[in-house]
Amino acid sequence: MQCPECQSEHIRKNGKNRQGKQNYICVNCHRQFIESYETYRGYSDDVRRECLKM
Ligand SMILES: [Zn+2]
Repeated sequence: MQCPECQSEHIRKNGKNRQGKQNYICVNCHRQFIESYETYRGYSDDVRRECLKM
């Protein structure tokens, strides 16, 4: 399991969301994500927003 942002494996559990999925937070960059995020391919929401501006 890695951070989707910086690929760091230095992550820790951060409670569960409303769907009961495990939340994680990256200790390195403080990015919060859920387990299923791992299967997500493509740009992050932040990058996508930047692209729309251009
Ligand atoms: Zn990270």
